[in-house]
This record gives sequence, structure tokens and C-alpha cells, in this order.
Amino acid sequence: MDSANQLETLFNNKNLSNQHREIAQKVKNNERITFDEGVHLYQTADLSYLGVLANYIREKRHGNNTYFNRNFHIEPTNLCVYDCKFCSYSVLIKERSEGWEYTMDEMLNIVKSYDDQPVTEAHIVGGVLPQYDMDFYMNLFTAIKKHRPDLHVKALTPVEYHYIFKKAKVDYATGMKMMKEAGLESMPGGGAEIFHPDIRNQIAKDKCNADQWLQIHEEWHKLGMRSNATMLYGHIETFEHRIDHLQRLRDLQDKTGGFQTFIPLKFRNQDNQMSNVPESTVVEDLRNYAISRIYLDNFDHIKAYWAMISRSTAQLSLNFGVDDIDGTLDDTTKIYSMAGAEEQHPAMSTKDLVKLIKDVGRKPIERDTLYNVVTDYENVEFADEVKPKYYALPVINN
Ligand code: SF4
Repeated sequence: MDSANQLETLFNNKNLSNQHREIAQKVKNNERITFDEGVHLYQTADLSYLGVLANYIREKRHGNNTYFNRNFHIEPTNLCVYDCKFCSYSVLIKERSEGWEYTMDEMLNIVKSYDDQPVTEAHIVGGVLPQYDMDFYMNLFTAIKKHRPDLHVKALTPVEYHYIFKKAKVDYATGMKMMKEAGLESMPGGGAEIFHPDIRNQIAKDKCNADQWLQIHEEWHKLGMRSNATMLYGHIETFEHRIDHLQRLRDLQDKTGGFQTFIPLKFRNQDNQMSNVPESTVVEDLRNYAISRIYLDNFDHIKAYWAMISRSTAQLSLNFGVDDIDGTLDDTTKIYSMAGAEEQHPAMSTKDLVKLIKDVGRKPIERDTLYNVVTDYENVEFADEVKPKYYALPVINN
């Protein structure tokens, strides 16, 4: 049954509450749901109902297309001047001996190690340290683009930009313009956590606040550039805090249209200061993807990081609003594994990613960072998948 028929079947369900019926009708009519309706969904909606609505939106926008890219990460350092309570990745400067701090040459060597590979994106994020200042990052971006002009530089979040601009005494608009001129091409979505100050002040109190995070993205969008957004969910926040977060993103997107993708990030509780907080269930993860898809009616894409939520949950998420499962990664990120993700060395070949998507009946599309299609893999067979051809032996008549 296709997603439109599933929605019609939902309307035939006599047990559907009036409020759920009204929300479903809004989804069918392509109308926006309200703050209170979003909270109501979190509080009351079951997984199958949310799946029908989210999948309807997903298939209306993207059909069966499921996107991924070929990328690698550079994580300049795991030392950080901040001390976010949920962070399993960073080491405080006073414990410097336990961390890494890549030099410019070391980072360029990572880029060069991909010279003969068809990757399209370098994703650069890590901790915040004084030596990684504006000049350092501008020189890094310029050097990467000089070495490999076709590689898209997606780098740093408002957490780093707020810190380095303040240190350099430049305003956000000037700073982002300088970054663009140096070679920055898009911004990932990290550092958003939960915007509401009641939660942000408890889990990430010293770094940029919600308004500053949003302002930096706004300045970037004003330059005609694109970025992503995230939400760290499933810890001490309430459903109201989640909707407040989505609302602020939806408002900025109305204003600029510069966001491409929303990525819900599941809180993991290994080796951090919030290890006592239980993690969300897979059902809650899927509900959260679905409600994000329904609420963010002005975002094109919803992404699930397969490396964070596991391959099988990523497959499931494709029925709950998700249309992108990120990239090959090539074991270049420690952010997920250090937080307790099942994938301790996240890397998938293109063939594996394509199979993962095809196995659940979706169409794998390799994209670049800006969602231009690189390869449609629907009918592509990999060399060792080609079925052996059998030839009839000649019949010899004596
Ligand atoms: S989440 Fe980011 S800013 Fe916070 S401590 Fe970890 S690396 Fe630093």
C-alpha cells in the first residue's frame, strides 16, 4: 500500500481521536501544525500513526529516494575549553595528555590520503581550543581548496565560530563572510543541543546560547549559503523543550530558507557526566524522527546518522520521515563511538550503503553536500554482484 492509501486507511479508523484526525487532515492538506499540536503528538501519538503521517510527507517530497554521500571527517582535537555535561568526546585542557591536537600539516595529510578516492565532502568539527583561531581555520580551508578544489568543505559550528570571532573581535556577519572567502562552503548542524535556556544552562552553559547559534546561521544564510541543524534529544528535556527547539528552527527557516537538513541526535550516556540518565528507546527515536518530519514543514530533508543509531534503526527510520542516512565516514569520526554507539569503527563502503537502502525497498541516491545527484544506484550492480552467466555447452554429434 502506498503512503497516500495508508493515510486514507488512517482516516477510516473510527478509534482515531478528533485531535489526531485534525492533525492528519492538516498533513494531508499540507498545512502547518501548531506548537500545542506538536506537544500533543509527543504526548499521545503511537508509532504507527506517526509513521503514516511522516512517511506520507517523506514520500510526497522524495518518493523512495534515500540519500547518502561519500565523506570523511577531520576532528582537529578532542580537547575543549568547554565542559558540556553530555559530551563523551572532549577532554578538558587540564588533562591534555589524554587528547589529540592535529597540526595544519596533519589535517592536510588526512585530506591528501583521499586523493585517489571519489569522496565529495570533508566534514570538519571537534573541540574548541585557543590555538585554533580564525587565522588557523581560514588557512586550513584555503589550503584544502587549493589542494583539492572539488572537495566540499563543511566545517565548524556556531560553537567554534562564536568563540573565534569573539577572540578576533569581529562581528558574526564579518566573520562568516571571511570564512566564505577562505573556502568554507557549508556549515554542519552541531552545537544546537537543546535551545531552551532551562536545559541549555544545565548541560552546555558556557558555550554560545540559542540566539547566538541562530544568528550565526542567519548570517551564513544571508550570504546565500546553506547549513544543517540538529537537536540533542532524549536526556533531561521535556516534550515542550523539543517543540520549542523545532519552533525556533522553523521560524528561522521561514526567514532565510537556508537550512537543508534537520538531524535529530540521540543522547548517548557512555563516559560522560550524564551517565545516570537513561537513553531513549528505539521506539522513542522513531517517534522523534516522525514528529520532526511533521513539524518542520519547511525543511527539505531529515537525516539519521547510521553510525549513531545503528544500521538496523537507520533502515527502520526510512519509514518514519527520514530520507538521508549520511555517509561512508571511513572510520574518521570518534564522536559517536566514544559516546557509546554500537558502531565502534564507523565505515561503510558505497556498496554496503546501497545494499542497506535497497534491502528495505528504497532507492539509493549518492548526493553531494548540496543534494545534487552524483549517482542513482537503483539499477547499478556492483562487480561481484553480477550474476554468473551460464553458456550452453556445444552439443557434439558423433
Ligand atoms: S560538546 Fe563540543 S563544545 Fe561541548 S565539551 Fe564537547 S567538544 Fe566541547
